[in-house]
Amino acid sequence: MNLFDLSGKTALVTGASGGLGRAMAVGFAEAGANVVAVASSESAETVEAIRAKGGRAELIAADLRNEDVLEDVVENAAGFFGGIDILVNNAGIIRRTPAANHSREDWHEVIGLNLNAVFFLCQLAGQRMLDRGSGKIINIASMLSFQGGINVPGYTASKHGVTGITKALANEWAGRGIQVNAIAPGYMKTNNTAPILADENRYRSITERIPAGRWGTPEDLVGPAIFLASSASDYMNGHVLCVDGGWMAR
Ligand code: NAD
Repeated sequence: MNLFDLSGKTALVTGASGGLGRAMAVGFAEAGANVVAVASSESAETVEAIRAKGGRAELIAADLRNEDVLEDVVENAAGFFGGIDILVNNAGIIRRTPAANHSREDWHEVIGLNLNAVFFLCQLAGQRMLDRGSGKIINIASMLSFQGGINVPGYTASKHGVTGITKALANEWAGRGIQVNAIAPGYMKTNNTAPILADENRYRSITERIPAGRWGTPEDLVGPAIFLASSASDYMNGHVLCVDGGWMAR
């Protein structure tokens, strides 16, 4: 299946220390890619897992809320394997408090990582891709790119923004060899959703609303991510791919 082969490509994946990011990073490596895993801590588990299977991976520890580090992140990432072919903006946080008393600190923290860092990393990696005339960018959106959610106004604003950035960049870059798309995961079992998983009633009511009858796992994202990272999706631009067990169809 050469269409999905990522051999010789280099993927920069943010938030790769666990959850969805780790699964995508490992999946890319299994499809042949070199992986640069960006994590907020020195956690090397993802990189070690890839190397243990014979893949090539490097770690960059960076707090992406800090705009001053982003240029170095991209430059260092490009230096490891000779460029960046695939960028996955996956790192994201959620702060759960009602809108009436959602603190400014929470708002800025969420917008800083989930929206500002996403745009600036697209810009920094995108400049290099534009120079080469090829590249794939995948931004991780959410069901809250379409819906309002409850008690998560900053997160909802950031994820609506992620789909906006995705479409805006696709319009400018589609004709220049770069595909910018997004994946909107449904309810997936990770740290991000741990508080909901721990709330039996909420967990049950959400599960009952999912046509597939179950929550997603990080592995459910691997195939769609490889698809959008590979030449199989060369004529897809500005698309938001829901991987949600049917949630949006309901
Ligand atoms: P997670 O909490 O397991 O992963 C978040 C990742 O972001 C971690 O690797 C973490 O280290 C990284 N991160 C956090 N703060 C950071 C910072 N300041 N700098 C750099 N990295 C930082 O959760 P997840 O579910 O794997 O989330 C991954 C993405 O998927 C997020 O953008 C999230 O909003 C999105 N998402 C998740 C779900 C879900 O149901 N789990 C649904 C829709 C969208």
